[in-house]
Amino acid sequence: MDLYEHQARQLFAEHGVLVPKAEVTDSPAEARDIARRLGGRAVVKAQVRTGGRGRAGGIRLAEDPAAAERAARDILGTDIGGHRVRTVMVAEPVAIESEFYVSYVLDRAAGGFLAIASAEGGTEIEEVAAARPEAVARVPVDPVEGVTEDKAAEIVRAAGLPPRTAGVLERLWRVLTREDALLVEVNPLVRTARGQLVALDGKVTLDDNALFRHVRWSDRQAPREDPLEAAAAARGLNYVRLEGEVGVIGNGAGLVMSTLDVVAGSGARPADFLDIGGGASARVMADGLSVVLSDPGVRSVLVNVFGGITACDAVADGIVRALDAVRPTKPIVVRLDGNNAARGRAVLDGRAHPLVHQAATMDDAARLAARLAHIS
Ligand code: GDP
Ligand code: MN
Repeated sequence: MDLYEHQARQLFAEHGVLVPKAEVTDSPAEARDIARRLGGRAVVKAQVRTGGRGRAGGIRLAEDPAAAERAARDILGTDIGGHRVRTVMVAEPVAIESEFYVSYVLDRAAGGFLAIASAEGGTEIEEVAAARPEAVARVPVDPVEGVTEDKAAEIVRAAGLPPRTAGVLERLWRVLTREDALLVEVNPLVRTARGQLVALDGKVTLDDNALFRHVRWSDRQAPREDPLEAAAAARGLNYVRLEGEVGVIGNGAGLVMSTLDVVAGSGARPADFLDIGGGASARVMADGLSVVLSDPGVRSVLVNVFGGITACDAVADGIVRALDAVRPTKPIVVRLDGNNAARGRAVLDGRAHPLVHQAATMDDAARLAARLAHIS
């Protein structure tokens, strides 16, 4: 996932890299207030997950709060490279003395990382690389060793950066590794008139496999609306709520999908589906059944298990356990086949619960579940 500049900037700050003071807003009036708080002058920057904002008119220097409000009004709602601008960052302006480029990128082919750095930052690095390839240094970074003091010094030398940028390089490496990023890019990293090194722009791509550690920013993990889905997720179950009346539990996505079809073919609609997965234990079955039974839309439940890795007697044990724990009031149709099916059926026969029915085939089971859903 690509982060917005203001998010990247926050990570930089958390790892000790200097960034300009700034606030984000979606309102021109608030942009004016922010500029006032920053001392009057401000840079107003479109927050979009793409580069080249400067050239596209997405960055404006405002001489006073009223100008910041006008700039925000002009920039908000515009389109930059296909990205609609919904927020702007209002930042304290920085007096730039020189602009540098530094980045770490994952180099999949090399099985490592690559530090790319140049003393000629500010413009698109691809243009610098095309016009003057010798001005862009590429230094491989071993992912295990990382950017040590020596490695940082090597990058600084190769790119002709001021020696003090070595410290920034080490901190940006910590951003990359501690935040599970695949890309960290600062363009420009600037030396200010007062001699400070400040990250004036930031691009960070987080590894999507690590988004669970970044819930504050992962817009793909919107909170679950449905309380049953949330409860199921909390128990590690794959559960999706639908709108019909037959609750469907199966093992394996393929089997569950075809069970949904067979239920539909029997004249009923699936109320939900729950995949207990391969190798499901009695406990998973018990958890799954109690989730499905607590859905008020469910009028009958179809448990369709083909035992492969999963042993049917373990599934039957789970059903019996769930019967004792949740005291169902809805009929449950069970079809067990495959690994230890006979033992599983015997377990259910032994329990002889009045609401539990067994069926020999998936079609029979679906027809029975549909019929029970309509009469219960
Ligand atoms: P990009 O165009 O999306 O890469 O946006 P940047 O944040 O990198 O800004 C583009 C250019 O605007 C920078 O290279 C700077 O030259 C200029 N710029 C951005 N912020 C400031 C600032 O605070 N002061 C000054 N003087 N220039 C700035
Ligand atoms: Mn930039």
